[in-house]
This record gives sequence, structure tokens and C-alpha cells, in this order.
Amino acid sequence: MGGGRGVDAIVVGAGIIGAACAWRLAREGYRVSVVDDCRAGATAAGMGHLVCMDDNPAELALSAYSLRLWREVTGRMPQACAWRGCGTLWLAEQANEMAIAEQKRARLAEQGVAAELLTAEQVAAMEPMLRQGLAGGLRVPGDGILYAPQAARWLLADAGVAIDVVQGEAIALDEAAVRLADGRELAAPVVVLACGLRANDLLSQPLLRAKKGHLAITDRYPPRVRHQLVELGYGASAHASDGASVAFNVQARPTGQWLIGSSRQFDSVDSSLDMPLLAAMLMRAQHFLPTLAQLNIIRCWTGLRAASADGLPLLGAHPRHTWLWLALGHEGLGVTTALGSAALLAAQIGRQAPEIDDSPYLAARAFAAEELSV
Ligand SMILES: Cc1cc2nc3c(=O)[nH]c(=O)nc-3n(C[C@H](O)[C@H](O)[C@H](O)COP(=O)(O)OP(=O)(O)OC[C@H]3O[C@@H](n4cnc5c(N)ncnc54)[C@H](O)[C@@H]3O)c2cc1C
Repeated sequence: MGGGRGVDAIVVGAGIIGAACAWRLAREGYRVSVVDDCRAGATAAGMGHLVCMDDNPAELALSAYSLRLWREVTGRMPQACAWRGCGTLWLAEQANEMAIAEQKRARLAEQGVAAELLTAEQVAAMEPMLRQGLAGGLRVPGDGILYAPQAARWLLADAGVAIDVVQGEAIALDEAAVRLADGRELAAPVVVLACGLRANDLLSQPLLRAKKGHLAITDRYPPRVRHQLVELGYGASAHASDGASVAFNVQARPTGQWLIGSSRQFDSVDSSLDMPLLAAMLMRAQHFLPTLAQLNIIRCWTGLRAASADGLPLLGAHPRHTWLWLALGHEGLGVTTALGSAALLAAQIGRQAPEIDDSPYLAARAFAAEELSV
């Protein structure tokens, strides 16, 4: 490697996905260099909800697998990672949504994920800040929350000397090498691209689309919400393929702050706040939690989720370059799926059998046949 010791793998990107990939490879015995230019990506902007999503079987399999892996390490994570096993409470507004809750419970059960249906009275008793008149809910106790930027830093540190972090911007990929803006070239037999949306530039290919999201956070208050609260309609908003949408999603931070989401907007790549959309998001939150009207919001911001064409991550070998591996397109679920994705990618690189079927996520599906024939 230019300017340093020889390494077995270079990971471009130190967000939660790059950090998880580097950590997993280090655990498998690789010496890894992680290159990052410290421009805050999605990991710095997100919500950090570890949530078992089930909008399709592949999404459910990966999130359930990854959550199992997170649970193996959360006990070792320092306080700064702010992990809490608070569970998710999915809320049914109307009586007919209880059928959706029951279908979700059944799907989760098939993956061994526990969830319990709750009556309106049980929901009100568990979360008295919610407005009256909800129809019920579904509680998923194995879900949790963490502070993703800190978790990424912890993963890199946890591997000790096996991971070396290099500050710099990758401007080009050469044969088994990464060229940096300052002229350095790092070489290794394995290069993992885990740099989120900006992979489009390095690959000169529009593999990923931006899905912008807004978040707002309140001042600190005495704790009054226990679970991550999400409306059952969230899945429909999360998987909309165009336009803008909002859904109720509130997280009680360990600091006593309420983190309020969420919005989704396609192909808007600037970081400015869209005030009407933000207002709609906050009104939706207040509709479920009327107390929010009394709380001070101290900051609002946006972040960009990197979405693949089918919404699933792109994990695996680049179809034309045997040294290049992709860990991209984690969209709105990359904190949840980080450890699972990293484990699947490391198994592929090491030519080992994956612990779950990795075929739905293989990166090669994103490259059209005609591009490969040139
Ligand atoms: C508003 C919002 C809410 C979210 N909420 C949740 C949630 O509750 N739960 C959940 O599971 N997920 C959530 N997500 C999604 C999650 O945050 C992302 O899927 C995840 O953070 C993606 O991580 P990443 O490492 O792939 O990318 P990033 O976090 O974007 O990291 C990429 C890194 O690569 C570096 N980089 C990029 N290009 C280069 C280059 N050329 N050279 C060197 N370094 C480079 C960047 O500086 C950055 O550090 C949310 C996302 C958003 C935006």
C-alpha cells in the first residue's frame, strides 16, 4: 500500500456500512484500510432506529438477520453509542389497520421475530402521550435504537490495529487500487465501495438515487415516551417510488429529546429544508402526539438515503472487476442492516457460505447486460 503497511482490503467510506464491512473483515483476519473524507453522509443524518422491516421477504430476512447480529454486540457498546432496546410500537389509526398489524405479526413470526398485537387500551396504557382513539397496535420488543455515527466509530475502534483509517478523498478506482485526491494511491487485492450515494461518481454510473429525508429534534424533557412510535402506514411511505410523502415516526432519545420523522422525497439532492414538507411531517407527528405542540424544536435537518432501483442493497462483486466489491444502496434501513450486509459481503469475499440466502442482494443485478458486453 502506498505510504503504509500492506493491507488485504481497502474500504472506501466510514459510514455505518463501511465501518461494519471493515469490522467484519477484520474479525475474519483481514488487515483493512478505511478511506474517508469526513463529509457527513447518511449515517450522520439518520434516525438510528434498529427496526425489523418486512415490506418484502428479502428486506425482512436481512433486517431480522442483522438485528440478531446487533444484539450480539450491543452489550459491549459504550454509552456514547446510546443503544436502547426500546422496541417499536406500530400504531393502527383505524380499526381496519389491525388486519395489517396481524399480517405483519405473522410475517415477523415466520422469521422468528416476536411481536404482540395490542388493543387500543393497551396502547394507551403503554404510551399515554398518544392521542386517544387509536385502534390498537403491534409491539416488536426486539427492535431498538442507537446513535449511528458513534456506533460506526466504535466498530472501527473495536477491531483495534487490524483497521487503519486513512483520511482522504477517493477520486478514482484503478486495478485493485484507490487513487486519492492528494496523489496517494492505496493498493489491495480487495476494494470495497461503501461510500453511499457518491459511488455513482466513482463508478461513473447512476446506480443509486437520492431519497431525501427531513428530521427534527426537540429540546430535552423528562422521559414520557418509551417505544419508537411509528404509524403502520410508514411502510407505504418508505416504499413509494416517486413524489414526496410523510409518515409519523418518533423516537425518544436517551437524552430526553424527541426525534421526529419522517419524510421521503425523490431526486432532491440539496440539503435545504422544504418548509411545506417539514410542516406536513410535524403536523402528522402532532396528530399522533398532541403534546408535541408544547415542546420546543431546536434543530431540523435533512439527509440523503441512497436507493437502488429495487430498494434492496447492492452487495457483492462488481460483475466486471474481480477485485471490486460493492456495499451500497441501503436506503432508509442501513443502520439496521449494516452488520447483516457486512457479514454477507465478507462471506462472499472469503468464499464462505452465507448464513442467509444472499441472492436477492447481489450487486450484479444492477448492471444491465448490455453494459457488461462492452
Ligand atoms: C433522514 C434519514 C433517516 C434515516 N433513518 C434510519 C433509521 O431510523 N434506521 C436505519 O436503519 N437507517 C436509517 N437511515 C438510513 C441510514 O442512515 C443509511 O442507510 C446508512 O447510514 C447508509 O450508510 P453508508 O455507510 O452506506 O453511507 P454514508 O453514511 O453516506 O457514508 C458514506 C461515507 O463515505 C464517505 N465518502 C463518500 N465518498 C467518498 C470518497 N469519494 N472518498 C472518501 N470518502 C467518501 C463519506 O464521507 C461518508 O463518511 C436514515 C437515513 C436518513 C437520510
